Amino acid sequence: MKITAAVTTAPKSRFELVELDLDEPRPDEVQVRLTACGVCHTDAVVRDQWYPTPLPAVLGHEGAGVVETVGSAVTDLAPGDKVVLSFNSCGSCRSCLNGHPAYCENFYTHNFSGRRPDGDTAFTQNGEAVSSHFFGQSAFATVSNVARRSVVKVDHDAPLELLGPLGCGIQTGAGAVLNVLNPEAGSSIVVFGAGAVGLAAVLASVVANATTIVAVDIVPSRLDLARELGATHTVDGRATDQVKQIKEITGGGAQYAVDTTGVAPVFRTMTDCMGVRGHAALVGASALGTESTIDIGTQLLSGQTISMVVEGDSNPQLFIPRLIDLYRAGRFPFDKLVKTYPMADINDAFEDSESGETLKPVVLL
Ligand code: NAD
Repeated sequence: MKITAAVTTAPKSRFELVELDLDEPRPDEVQVRLTACGVCHTDAVVRDQWYPTPLPAVLGHEGAGVVETVGSAVTDLAPGDKVVLSFNSCGSCRSCLNGHPAYCENFYTHNFSGRRPDGDTAFTQNGEAVSSHFFGQSAFATVSNVARRSVVKVDHDAPLELLGPLGCGIQTGAGAVLNVLNPEAGSSIVVFGAGAVGLAAVLASVVANATTIVAVDIVPSRLDLARELGATHTVDGRATDQVKQIKEITGGGAQYAVDTTGVAPVFRTMTDCMGVRGHAALVGASALGTESTIDIGTQLLSGQTISMVVEGDSNPQLFIPRLIDLYRAGRFPFDKLVKTYPMADINDAFEDSESGETLKPVVLL
C-alpha cells in the first residue's frame, strides 16, 4: 500500500513528506489510519540521534486514529475502532508480567530499534528500508502497522485530534504524579519545567488534591499558564536562591517533586529542596552520559527517595482511559496545551515546540 509519511533523514534536518510503501500487518499488529499525532521532545531527541534509531525513519509516537484492518491473531479489536497509540512492550519479561510495561526489559528493541523484533521494517522507499515501529507505531504517517500492545481502544465519540498526546507526554507527567509519587491530599509538590510534561504533572497534582503546587521554569509565559492550570506558586528557574524560595513556600522542604527538564543542575536543585522523607522523580531526558551530583553527606539524613520514571510508570490500557474520564469530567483540561497543525506544516510544529511558542503541537494527518 502507498502511504504518505514525514521522514527524518539526518540529525537537525527538516522532516520530508514522501510516499512510502507500507507492508501488510503481521498477525500481532493493527493497521491504523492516523487522524493525528502529537509532537514530543523525544521525537527531536531521536531525530538528533541522542538515541541511535537508524535513519531514515518515520518517527511520531503520540498517534490516534481508526483501525483499518487487524492481524490474524488480534481478536479484541475490529475495523472502525477508534484508538490511541502508546509505547510498546514485550508482554513477557518480569516488568511486563508485574504490570510495569514502561520498564519492559526489551524496551529499546520494541520502541527505539526502528525495526520489528524480527528485524524487518514496515516501510520501504524504492525497496530500501525506512525505520518503522518507533514506539511500536511510527505515527507521522497517514497509515501505519502498529504493535497490538501499543493500541488502546477508546470510545466511538472520542476526540481523536486531541487524544494522541495522552500516549506519551501527558501520560508521562500525569503518571509520574498519580502512579509514582501519589501525593496525599493537602501535600506539597514542586514541578521543574512547565512544558507539556510538567504542566500535565501540575494538572495531575490538582487531581490529587495537593494544596501547594510550585511550578519552576525559565519562561515567564509558561509560569503564567502553570498558574492558570492550578499551580499555587511559581519560581523563576533563573533565580540563584530557588532552593531557599521553595523551602519557604513548602514550609521547610517539598514533600514531592518532579524534574521534567533533564538539565543536570536542575536535578541537583530538586534534591536540595526536598523535605525530610520527600519523594522526587526524574522524568526529563538527557543525552546518554549526562551526570549530576548529589550532596550525599547531607541527603543521607533526609531519607529522601528518588525515582527514575519512564512513561509515568503507566499501564496505557488502564491509564489512558482514566485520563480521558478525568478530561471529560472537566478535571484534567490538557486540551489547553494543544495546538493543531496540518501535516504539511510539521516542520513549523517542531520549530514552535522548540521555541516554546506551542506547548503541545498535534499534527493532523
Ligand atoms: P518542553 O521542552 O516543552 O519542556 C521543558 C521545560 O523545561 C520548558 O518549559 C523549559 O523552559 C524548561 N526548562 C529548561 N531549562 C530549565 C531550567 N534550567 N529551569 C527550569 N525550567 C527549565 O518538553 P516536554 O515535552 O515537556 O518534555 C520534557 C522532558 O520529558 C523532555 O526531556 C522529554 O524528552 C522528556 N520525556 C520523558 C519521558 C519519559 O518517559 N521519561 C517521556 C516523554 C518525554
